Amino acid sequence: PSLDALIADLAVDVPDFPSPGVVFRDLTPVFADGPAFRRVVEGLAAPSLVDPRAAALAAGGAGPGYDLVVGVEARGFLLAAAVALDTGLGVVPVRKAGKLPRERLSADYSLEYGTATLEVHTDSIRPGQRVLVVDDVLATGGTLAAAITLVEGLGGIVTAVSVVVELAALGGRQRIAPHTVHSLWST
Ligand code: IMP
Repeated sequence: PSLDALIADLAVDVPDFPSPGVVFRDLTPVFADGPAFRRVVEGLAAPSLVDPRAAALAAGGAGPGYDLVVGVEARGFLLAAAVALDTGLGVVPVRKAGKLPRERLSADYSLEYGTATLEVHTDSIRPGQRVLVVDDVLATGGTLAAAITLVEGLGGIVTAVSVVVELAALGGRQRIAPHTVHSLWST
């Protein structure tokens, strides 16, 4: 099957989680399927093929168009580490507030109720490094927007953003613009 059909087949919709009226797309069965997980990781690793901005930034350079993989806590960690291994690059965690021990940069973002904070170690990204940001789901885009703010705050260049699933009706793609989101399944 095509990759989007495979993901759609394995993902499980969970009504009323984490709160009434919300349908949660559970991707853990996709990750638990070895061949599917490999195809997902390879798909996430190849965003420069569809992102003209990343292609331009990568021009003249070898490799996938990025130098470093950033994963967003927590499910983004599973994916970003696998992409890093697949491409031979390093992986950097963007974490929820209070988890990183050393000097860090913080970015606040809004949730449905209240706000949350993401953080990154200030020495984890060097100015001019090209970065792929990875997460599992793009919903409203607030999480990825904050992660992008952190990367750019350290002088990194976000050449690509990859997610497994994009919940298109929530407008996350618009929120991330002008960055292009590479989603393996849009629903
Ligand atoms: P956003 O900030 O609204 O785009 O929400 C994206 C973040 O919430 C990601 O880190 C996802 O892991 C998580 N998320 C939102 N909706 C879902 C869902 O339906 N399934 C799994 N994770 C979700």
